[in-house]
Amino acid sequence: MPALTLTLTDEAATARLGARLAAVLGPGDLVLLFGDLGAGKTTLARAVIEALTGEADAPSPTYTLVQVYDANAGWPLAHADLYRLDDEAELDELGLDEILEDGAALVEWPGHAPNWRPASRLEVRLTGGADEPRIAVLEGFETWEDRLDRLAG
Ligand code: ADP
Ligand code: MG
Repeated sequence: MPALTLTLTDEAATARLGARLAAVLGPGDLVLLFGDLGAGKTTLARAVIEALTGEADAPSPTYTLVQVYDANAGWPLAHADLYRLDDEAELDELGLDEILEDGAALVEWPGHAPNWRPASRLEVRLTGGADEPRIAVLEGFETWEDRLDRLAG
């Protein structure tokens, strides 16, 4: 599987990755954001949302589990956080598969729904924290394989 490793030296670098991601994102695209608390998942998702919708400071969907935005191009963009998903069977109720029929989705804590892995997806693994360098490892599956090089800094 093609993979790309990036060092994100500061929050602005994470935001720039989000902007590059937004530039290649379209209907049908799923981005899974793995990483511990504080790794930068919401920061990255927010940058994508701002680039695609103009909405700055998107709220974290910690409690709502999913927030849906309208991308300027006219398709829905979902931002989900599965941390509080009690049972993977409840994933259906969030409507992510429906959104992916004509829109895109950014999903935090995908480890809470380990069996939901649509074939075409970008997996982003964020590591590091306050005193460690932030690293992003991006792995592209199916339609994402050819786009990975456009995500390099
Ligand atoms: P998560 O959603 O993974 O829990 P957040 O996106 O809320 O994490 O980020 C946690 C903190 O890390 C925020 O204060 C954010 O500003 C900061 N942050 C994000 N990316 C970086 C980075 N590349 N370098 C340093 N700090 C960062
Ligand atoms: Mg978060």
